[in-house]
Amino acid sequence: MSRPQIKKPNKSKKSPKSKKFVYEFGKKTDGNTTMRELLGGKGANLAEMASIGLPVPPGFTISTEVCTYYYDHQQRYPTALRQSVESSVRSVEKQLGKKFGGRKNPLLVSVRSGARDSMPGMMDTILNLGLNDDTVEGLADVSNNPQFAWDCYRRFIQMYGGVVMGVTARTEEEEDPFHIILEKLKHSLHIESDSELSTANLQTLVTRYKALIRKRTRSAFPQDVMQQLWGAISAVFGSWRNDRAILYRQEYDIPAEWGTAVNVQAMVFGNAGNDSATGVAFTRDPANGEKLFYGEYLINAQGEDVVAGVRTPNAISMLAKEMPKSFKDLEKVRAKLEKHFKDMQDFEFTIEKKKLFILQTRNGKRTGLAAVRIAVEMQKERLMNVETALLKIPAESIDSLLVPVFDPKALKAATVIATGLPAGPGGATGRIAFTAAQAEKATREGKKVVLCRTETSPDDLKGMLHSQGILTSRGGVSSHAALVARQLGKVCVCGASDIKINYEKKTLTAGKTVLNEGDYISIDGTTGAIYKGMIESTDSEVKRVLEGKLKPNKSYTYELFQTVMKWADKHRSLNIRTNADTPNMASQAVAFGAEGIGLCRTEHMFFDGDRIDYMRQMILAADEVQRRSALKKLLPFQKKDFVGIFKAMNGRPVTIRLLDPPLHEFLPHDDVVRRQLAERLDVPLDFVIDRIKSLHEENPMLGCRGCRLGIIYPEITEMQSRAIFEATAQVLKGKKKIKVKPEIMIPLVGFREELADQLAIVHRVAKEVMKKRKVRFSYLVGTMIEVPRAAITADEIAKEADFFSFGTNDLTQTALGLSRDDMGLFYDEYQRKEIYNKNPFASIDQRGVGKLMEFAVERGRSTKPDLKLGICGEHAGDPTSIDFCHRVGLNYASCSPPRVPIARLAAAQAKLRNS
Ligand code: PEP
Ligand code: MG
Repeated sequence: MSRPQIKKPNKSKKSPKSKKFVYEFGKKTDGNTTMRELLGGKGANLAEMASIGLPVPPGFTISTEVCTYYYDHQQRYPTALRQSVESSVRSVEKQLGKKFGGRKNPLLVSVRSGARDSMPGMMDTILNLGLNDDTVEGLADVSNNPQFAWDCYRRFIQMYGGVVMGVTARTEEEEDPFHIILEKLKHSLHIESDSELSTANLQTLVTRYKALIRKRTRSAFPQDVMQQLWGAISAVFGSWRNDRAILYRQEYDIPAEWGTAVNVQAMVFGNAGNDSATGVAFTRDPANGEKLFYGEYLINAQGEDVVAGVRTPNAISMLAKEMPKSFKDLEKVRAKLEKHFKDMQDFEFTIEKKKLFILQTRNGKRTGLAAVRIAVEMQKERLMNVETALLKIPAESIDSLLVPVFDPKALKAATVIATGLPAGPGGATGRIAFTAAQAEKATREGKKVVLCRTETSPDDLKGMLHSQGILTSRGGVSSHAALVARQLGKVCVCGASDIKINYEKKTLTAGKTVLNEGDYISIDGTTGAIYKGMIESTDSEVKRVLEGKLKPNKSYTYELFQTVMKWADKHRSLNIRTNADTPNMASQAVAFGAEGIGLCRTEHMFFDGDRIDYMRQMILAADEVQRRSALKKLLPFQKKDFVGIFKAMNGRPVTIRLLDPPLHEFLPHDDVVRRQLAERLDVPLDFVIDRIKSLHEENPMLGCRGCRLGIIYPEITEMQSRAIFEATAQVLKGKKKIKVKPEIMIPLVGFREELADQLAIVHRVAKEVMKKRKVRFSYLVGTMIEVPRAAITADEIAKEADFFSFGTNDLTQTALGLSRDDMGLFYDEYQRKEIYNKNPFASIDQRGVGKLMEFAVERGRSTKPDLKLGICGEHAGDPTSIDFCHRVGLNYASCSPPRVPIARLAAAQAKLRNS
């Protein structure tokens, strides 16, 4: 292939009339791989492949700017677009010597979406476009194969009918209406495979399909090829806003304003006979990352057959036997793609009469485990450096190295009822749900489910998100189910053909075993095994090594994990701490790499055993004397806990927050427990009831909580400070020399005076303890920044504080005026309308809450340039929020123990991305 010329992208700000909207690839190529924003990932890579001499059928890309224009202008196009599209069609015609809509040697095209980041299966695709009653005869003549021509035509009508004209299944239980017609015909002819359909059979199908369309839409299937093309282009742009695309964007943080491009490309035919084939391949195994050629293909078929799972395809290794020459060509392409794109590629190919074509390539989606392995091994192979390797691993994927697997003992006792293809590693147990809606419903009821479908479609995305795992009876490792599960990090077994699913009867049958909806099933996405019933799971290898239960050199997964963690630690500047309230949690977090505790919620220590009684006694106390007496009983417990935590942290910093939640959270709400409490405290029941009533608040989250508690009951702050300092003294004087420098944190401060009030108590108690225990220690006292007033007056508050820690849970709640606990009623609608791109309690609302944080950082440091700053809300475990925290200059992020490895990696990525 000659090396076509690449033109530089046209970046000038021209009026829509003269602006470039269409970019060609083929003999003349306008784009390249850097132009993803404009051409989408698919368009940019098609251009790149064409320019490095890979065999790409010619075509053109309509830019994402047209998508934006389309939505900004009531679904109309820029006037110049029509002419550009028509001229690009002419250019493709010229390159191939074919004619779009021509009777002689007709040109057929595919029309596909292509967003900046690939969104596999979420948007629409139309193949074989350009066929009509006339051109089908032309295709039959030129190919000398009427069966093939009519096969293309029936496929086209089905796709166009579904995607553009909306003729699809009307309920989740219903099958695709075209599929029903096809199956009926095959059944009446006693035919198993589509390829056995004769020309006459296919012509019958075409007639029946057209009749179906007329019946359902009251209009005829369009014969004008240009009308077909514009219908398809609009459908693809329209699919940017379909429900599943919206849901996908929310899951993967893709902004709605990016838009999709549309790629129009000359068709090549994998269904042109037994010397033709089509397939999908990965340059490495996307399930476990191993460096082996991975993929599948079907002889005499079109791409959709492979992905839709209609026929179960062959493994790519079989191609070496069936088409040795094409396999060799494919191996060369595999090597060239990796070397050029420097990442694992997922590409589509078609062999038309022994000639190989590449239809698309993209960085392959992969499981978390594969992401880690591929990055580590590609770095070893010098295909990328450490920095790139770090950026290639989605931070969340580290989690999949830590997920539980089935307990080997329980596994031995379990009954395998069938086996499918392993498509998403890990073990999942749950109740059977046969529809996405049922999966969602059961999950909302608190049940764990495994979604079991014959095959999944993009409409099942929501159900898949809710499920522990996904099981399908049809389709291969690149079927929709496998692809999406891999991305979601879900356990998945697909193509389990021994399983029969009956949607009507709601049964799943495997041999003699019949399971009903709601029964337990377990699937192993690493081996493909399917088990009846529930199976206990066990910790991952990495976790076992970290806990000393497995030798490090016995686990390659651990080696991968360690490599990445070491790289990350070397490249990050943000410290990673953890939120832990018990010595156990603290030790687990240290094993995961936590460098300190950023939040110890002391209230969590009051629920155990007798403590809750003393706590309740303290809350219900009628006066200070009674309160002090209850607090005295609580003190030894608190002290013991702190000693345990200081020891577990072994010299690392520990931030302890004083009592924060509304007191009613500790009080009993039902009568029996209230009666028992009255008996235990030896007070009349009425007294308990009256006190509970008097403590009632309409809005407890904004009521008597946080530092307000310590201000009205100073003895609480006193007891907690004493417990902390007594524990400090004890550990400092212990046999094993452990450094302790506690950091005391005052919650919900909004006024400098509040902090000053509490500080006085803390300092007084510190002095008392030092004197009494004859030991000197240092400590810090700081505050949470979790109400807007604190952020706004951060310069004043910083005068009193040694450190700030952003409590972004409350800061989000108070800044948005949005209850942490009550957003369920409207949240779905807000997401659907894309008002919230992401749940603001999961990922920092950077344009709102983030602004308050930036302001507080700037103001706080204007008072104290060295002010230590951290974050301890749930957002501290979210990679996007970590990136933000790095950018605004925080010193540390403190997240839950299991998220510590993710946060370490995210912190390194933040630094690399922003430096
Ligand atoms: C916060 O508000 O972000 C925080 C960490 O405190 P809590 O969640 O305990 O209110
Ligand atoms: Mg809070």
